[in-house]
Amino acid sequence: MNSAWLIHAPQGYGKWPLLQRTANALLCESPQSLTASQGNAGSPQVSLTPTGGGSASRPWGLSGLEAARLPAVLSTSKACGHCASCALLAAGTHPDLLIAAPEAMWPELGLNPSEETAPRSETRTASQEIRIEQIRRLNDWSVSTSHRGRAKVALIYPVDALNAAAANALLKTLEEPPEDVQFLLGAHRLDALLPTIRSRCRLAALPRPGAAEAQQQLGGKTVASGTQQAVLAWCQGAVYQTNPALGLEWAESLLDALSRQAASPQSSTLPPPPDQAAGVAALLKIGSDLQRVQSGAPPLYLPQKLPTLTALAQRIAPRKLADALDDWRQKQRLAGFPLNQALASDSLLLEFAQLFSRGD
Ligand SMILES: [Zn+2]
Repeated sequence: MNSAWLIHAPQGYGKWPLLQRTANALLCESPQSLTASQGNAGSPQVSLTPTGGGSASRPWGLSGLEAARLPAVLSTSKACGHCASCALLAAGTHPDLLIAAPEAMWPELGLNPSEETAPRSETRTASQEIRIEQIRRLNDWSVSTSHRGRAKVALIYPVDALNAAAANALLKTLEEPPEDVQFLLGAHRLDALLPTIRSRCRLAALPRPGAAEAQQQLGGKTVASGTQQAVLAWCQGAVYQTNPALGLEWAESLLDALSRQAASPQSSTLPPPPDQAAGVAALLKIGSDLQRVQSGAPPLYLPQKLPTLTALAQRIAPRKLADALDDWRQKQRLAGFPLNQALASDSLLLEFAQLFSRGD
C-alpha cells in the first residue's frame, strides 16, 4: 500500500467516517475480510460500548456499501471491534493513530482532545485551521516506534484546512515518509491544495453515496418519511452532513410566496433564509433548477416543485438568470462572508425577487 492516500470529494459525501473506519481496520489486530459484494442495506454494523471518553456516535464497522466507494486497496477489511487495538480506538487513546483536524471541528468529528495532535490552544476561539504545531507533533510521532507493533496511521482532515506553514511542514514528511506510517488524507477541494502535496499522494475521488447508502444514512436521522425523497434530491447524495435538508424548507416556502405574489402582488412577504450561507446555497439550487426547466430538463433539486418552477421560469429572462447565478457563485466563494447577516439576507432576497420583475 502506498504510504499516503488522498481521498477527495465534495462536503457531505462521507469522507471522514470512511477514512476513520479505514484507519480502524488498518490498526485492528484481527481485521475481518470485507468485499463490496457482501454489502447490503441491512448489513449489521459492529458496535462497541465505548470506554472512557469514547464517543458513542463513533462510526465503526465499514459496511460493504460504503467500502465499495473506497479504492479497493483501502477497503479489503473492517475492524473486528473486539481486540485490544479496537478497544483503544473506541476509547480514543490508540497510540498508533494520530489525527490532525482543526480544533473548531473536533465536536462535529466526535474527537476527544486526547486524540488530537496538540494540546488545546491558548486562544479563546478554536482554530478553523490545522496549525503547524499539530503537524510538527505528527512529524515527531511518525518517526517514533509503533506502540503495538503494527502499522501506524496518520489521519489528516480536511487537508483544505492546513495553513501554509503546516502544509509545508507536512510536505517534508510526505517527501520521505517513514515506512510503517500510513497517511490517510481527506480533502473537499483538490484544486485548493498545494500541487506538491497532491503529487506526493495517491489520489482517489470518492463518488457520491449511492441511493441505498444515502437512504441508510438518512434513515438514522429524524427526517419525516414523506420528505426523504425530497431531501435526497435536495442534497444530491451529500447526506453525510449535519443537516442534509438545510435550506430545503426555506426554498419551498420562497417558491410558494413568489407564486402567491404573482397572483396578487404584495400579498405576502418573502421569508428570510435560515442564514446567509444557506440562503446563497439554496438560491444556487433554485436558480439551477429554473435554468433546467427553461431548457426543458426536469428539476434536479426540487422535483416536487415542478409546476411552480415552470410558472416562475417563464417570468425570468434567461440572461438575467445566468447573471444572477454567476453573482451567487461569486458570493459563495467570498471568504469571510457574510459580514452583516440581516442586511445581507435582505439584499439577497431583494436581488432574487427582482429577477421576476417585469421590464428590461
Ligand atoms: Zn479489532
